[in-house]
Amino acid sequence: MKICLVSHTENFKGNEEKYRWIVEGFKEIEEELSLNIPITWALEEDDTGLHPLEIRARNRGDLITHGSDFFKRLHLEGHELGIHVHFVKEGKLDFSYLNQKRLIKNAKVKFIKAFGFAPKSFVGGWWHSDEFTTKILREEGFLVDASPLPLYSEKRRRWILGKIPTFSRIVASDWRHFKSRIPLLKEGILKVPNAIDPRVDFFSVSKTISLDLLDTQMMESLEVFRHFQEEGITFLCIPFHPHSLTREKFSKIKTFFIRCNKIDKLEFIRLQDLYERWRGAPNQDV
Ligand SMILES: [Zn+2]
Repeated sequence: MKICLVSHTENFKGNEEKYRWIVEGFKEIEEELSLNIPITWALEEDDTGLHPLEIRARNRGDLITHGSDFFKRLHLEGHELGIHVHFVKEGKLDFSYLNQKRLIKNAKVKFIKAFGFAPKSFVGGWWHSDEFTTKILREEGFLVDASPLPLYSEKRRRWILGKIPTFSRIVASDWRHFKSRIPLLKEGILKVPNAIDPRVDFFSVSKTISLDLLDTQMMESLEVFRHFQEEGITFLCIPFHPHSLTREKFSKIKTFFIRCNKIDKLEFIRLQDLYERWRGAPNQDV
């Protein structure tokens, strides 16, 4: 199974130390599993003001301007840098074509200024991606969208619909494609499904979750992983949020990977490399 580890990377200032131990922590897992673990860091550069749903957003979206030196080094070490965008305007959700275009374009321009090359991979805030997003990604030269949350179970369907209603029309049809082992390629954009249910996920956006509950959730996540594997899906995305990681959770992640590796040999791959591999053999599993 090919795993794209995708960080929804949302703020940097004041969290530098945390980012350092996260990177170190993944290096330890690399050694323990004898695997290379490159990560796609999807960076947010937000100029929409306050995040509508979370107060912590006050400092968010400073990755490209404030974290550029840190992430430049990670890029040199073999990690991928992409972008992460929440579609907001003046504190409210706004998924219109114009607003999505404005935000993706702004992020891209700042990204190029900071890193000297154009981003190829994208993941939407709250995993949002619709027809407009796909069109804009194409127009702006992106190759991969790591947003899809396939509705592979009733539980997931309920969670997603309860969380943000717009998800329903975005992902309702996607699972069929993944299930038939066809990578979902729309207008030249490779769509990579997220395997881990954000509701039961130890990488989740919630930092307050108890460690006991985390154990239960890890078992559920393992079932999700097994489910994907049984369906013959050969690549998937595991998202995580640096702000919600704690050291205790990190050791759980390590255990989780070790268990997954027993079900199916893991290969960690950057989103852009997955695209290249897919392009080389479009009708086969990558
Ligand atoms: Zn986000």
